[in-house]
Amino acid sequence: MPEKPLFPDDSAELRREIIETARAFTRLGLTKGTSGNVSARTSSGFLLTPSGTPYEVLSEDRIVALDLEGCYRGDILPSSEWRMHLDFYLAKPACGAVVHCHSPRATALACHRKGIPAFHYMVALAGGDRIECADYASFGTRALSDAMIAALGDRNACLLANHGQIAGGPTLQKALAVAEGIEDLADQYLSALALGEPVILDAAEMADILRKFKSYGKQTNEFEEGQSAAFELPKRVG
Ligand code: 13P
Ligand code: ZN
Repeated sequence: MPEKPLFPDDSAELRREIIETARAFTRLGLTKGTSGNVSARTSSGFLLTPSGTPYEVLSEDRIVALDLEGCYRGDILPSSEWRMHLDFYLAKPACGAVVHCHSPRATALACHRKGIPAFHYMVALAGGDRIECADYASFGTRALSDAMIAALGDRNACLLANHGQIAGGPTLQKALAVAEGIEDLADQYLSALALGEPVILDAAEMADILRKFKSYGKQTNEFEEGQSAAFELPKRVG
């Protein structure tokens, strides 16, 4: 029996979901105009928003299919950041979606080439104990993609110097939630910096937070084999 592909096939429904995610950028205040781009992995590569197209006028037929060698077909040019999306998928086999945006507060930090340290435990949402800022390289270049890969390390998001942020996740919804969370953290970090450098949580505390994140949000019937709650639970009496 052939193995079921891990990622969905190209479909009108997936293309629509990409458009809805890109439009959510505007609704959530994460980007303006044609800045940013959105992709979802498929069984044969990935689907990516076109270059320089306002999100309001996007339609399913303008979403571009690429393979994992970076080839595309048709008349519509994919996002100028196709290489960042491609390299993200190549580096992160479990990643099913990638979003890039110029969200205002994360971009403000990135313009100072400052990452987000563990001033708040929620930095764990990117899968590590801090969120790095990638070295600067011009938009749409292989150099930018290389800098992104270096800054990601084993995490699933980073800031991009003098540019914005990029985040991945298993699904479009989850990748968007990481980008939204990073914008929130950047906002809180900038406020905290107004009083000087905030207290940074140490490595042991962040290791514990990362362990807790594995069960946080799960009901007990959703735990994996051998997994138990990382929090003290009240006694269930009914
Ligand atoms: P595209 O319109 O080509 O996707 O570019 C937008 C962008 O954010 C470049 O970094
Ligand atoms: Zn950009």
